[in-house]
Amino acid sequence: MFDSLSQRLQDVFKNLRGHGTLTEENIREAMREVRLALLEADVNFRVVKDFIASVTEKAVGREVLKSLAPGQQVIKIVHQELVELLGGSSVELELGGRKPVVIMMVGLQGSGKTTTSGKLARRLQGEGKKPYLVPADVYRPAAIDQLTVLAGELEVPVHPSRTDQDPVDICRQAVARAGELGCDILLVDTAGRLHVDQELMEELSRIKTALQPAEILLVADAMTGQDAVAVADKFHQDLSLTGVVLTKLDGDARGGAALSIKKATGRPIKFVGLGEGLDALEVFHPDRMASRILG
Ligand code: GDP
Repeated sequence: MFDSLSQRLQDVFKNLRGHGTLTEENIREAMREVRLALLEADVNFRVVKDFIASVTEKAVGREVLKSLAPGQQVIKIVHQELVELLGGSSVELELGGRKPVVIMMVGLQGSGKTTTSGKLARRLQGEGKKPYLVPADVYRPAAIDQLTVLAGELEVPVHPSRTDQDPVDICRQAVARAGELGCDILLVDTAGRLHVDQELMEELSRIKTALQPAEILLVADAMTGQDAVAVADKFHQDLSLTGVVLTKLDGDARGGAALSIKKATGRPIKFVGLGEGLDALEVFHPDRMASRILG
């Protein structure tokens, strides 16, 4: 994960640590390299600009330059700012309110929405909750089948959605059915498209109005970098997301999506997907991620 970015940053820091004393120019030079490393990792340029400005402002102060280990101080500042950039602290799911609580999964086709719905069902099940899986993508029969198979593996009940039904009707019926089955959480796997389009957004808005979800989670593919950020922006404008699940972080994503999404959309990354298996979902911890990046 983020191998190239990590390597670049570690090289910069090694260099900084090597100095007994640091001048303002040493720090500015290091920041130029950090800036390049972030841009090459596909981090949004405005995010990079603010990040570098903020670190530089803190790092060129007298206390840092005069301290015993100035390089170490600068690295500490970068770490703290990185944690902030990633969202500060982890953010839990909002599962209060009327039962069944609704979690709506949205995102582009192929982002990992269906898989993540299964992963989340497993996680909630492990916490003693009773999830009900609802396939609401009526355009691709394979999508309904895929979630139904996952539900079977997990032994979680799944709604018998049909492709000739309206997705809003499916969701309304699913709420009633979840109640009958004693399920307390509805996990709705909505339709995805290859690109954001108005028709899809309108359908998702109708589902949102009908279900009043506690959570609307965007599932975004970390491998798509800045595109994932643009997608998150658009979904957030139309639906007011409550959070993001960033998938495929086990691959060779460069880091741009993870490092830009919170700052660009204001929405926290709540979970990360780290593989295709149903247990490959982790709560996102900004501090751990920052440590992983900085090595
Ligand atoms: P959907 O179209 O958004 O519902 O996407 P799917 O859930 O069908 O996932 C698309 C592909 O991505 C499948 O092959 C999944 O196994 C894979 N996938 C989903 N999440 C992850 C992840 O975190 N890591 C990896 N490596 N693959 C994932």
